[in-house]
Amino acid sequence: MIFAVERTQERLAFAVGELTGASGRDVLTVPEGTPIVIDGSTGEIHVDPQPAVVDDYRRRAADLAERRTRELALAGEPATTLDGTRILVAANLGSLADARAARAGGADEAGLVRTEFLFLGRSEAPGVEEQEQEYVAIGEALGGRRVTLRSLDVGGDKPLPYLPVVREDNPFLGLRGLRLALARPALLHDQLVAVCRAARRTPTSLMFPMVSTAAELRAARAALDAAAGPSGVPGDLRVGMMVEVPAAALKIESFLPLLDFVSIGTNDLTQYALAAERGNPAVAGLADALDPAVLQLIDRVCQASRGRVDVAVCGEVAADTAAVALLVGLGVRELSVGPHAVPRVKERVRALDLEQCQVVAKQALSLESADEVREFAHAALGC
Ligand code: PEP
Ligand code: MG
Repeated sequence: MIFAVERTQERLAFAVGELTGASGRDVLTVPEGTPIVIDGSTGEIHVDPQPAVVDDYRRRAADLAERRTRELALAGEPATTLDGTRILVAANLGSLADARAARAGGADEAGLVRTEFLFLGRSEAPGVEEQEQEYVAIGEALGGRRVTLRSLDVGGDKPLPYLPVVREDNPFLGLRGLRLALARPALLHDQLVAVCRAARRTPTSLMFPMVSTAAELRAARAALDAAAGPSGVPGDLRVGMMVEVPAAALKIESFLPLLDFVSIGTNDLTQYALAAERGNPAVAGLADALDPAVLQLIDRVCQASRGRVDVAVCGEVAADTAAVALLVGLGVRELSVGPHAVPRVKERVRALDLEQCQVVAKQALSLESADEVREFAHAALGC
């Protein structure tokens, strides 16, 4: 981005903060009218850059645009590694508009629909019909491709006005995700009825967030059976869980008999594994999903699931160039990323050799830090 500092300073400070993980407020000291360059991939900011720096960024922006055109041209094609292993590249959605963008970007399916979008910013929960219509509309916008609906993932960190929760000192460790849904059975029931109805009209998967114990998953499955009614759970409805809690990764065998698939939520898995709150700029450097501890948890899930259930990753790291190779090497066979990233991730997959990824991923598990993992992957795979 190349722009002059104008009256948008407050917004810019926020944007810089988002990009750099810092507060971004230093930008408020930059005089109005000063040209700046923000490197969107590193978060670096150049204040009043030399003409050579601006030229360099203009050239890089043109190269990126050219690459994007190439990637988009192939976006509708499957992503297969050099040796012929198919990797599904799916999209994470938070609205119907996202579904349209995902279709345009060539997503193979929706790997995560954050259904919270239907529940936030209103004074009462959406009814069963409204939910069913929205879920089916997402499937239609995706041209009938599979839609993975995540059951409501709210709690102390994402409160709903019509769902009063007790104040918690540590909301990320409190009543959130499936824990909250099980504590509000009527809300969960309505959602599961809507999911079952949608599944009878469009290919649908359902997954539960923030699962810590097999007992929670059994309770969720019982709620699904009750919501399905006498005709039973639709045969084509695939049921999965998100692996976001390190304990769930370590106990993965106890969940597998209850599942058709698992999807690893590395955003939460990383914050819990490293005890580094996501979104807290003071510990942003610690919360890196390529930390070998997180990779070991992913490896644990992939090893146990091999030949039994499919493993996806739907956290942000699935769109990280180095991570794509490592995750595929560990055994992940679906990467679910922001709609815009789908063409780029597909192109990345097409350049991979599976055996080489396996060797590199295995070695990465015993490194010391995320930085070491990145350097190692860069040296070994050029990413
Ligand atoms: C995750 O935790 O990785 C995830 C995909 O879920 P969310 O970011 O919505 O918590
Ligand atoms: Mg999560």
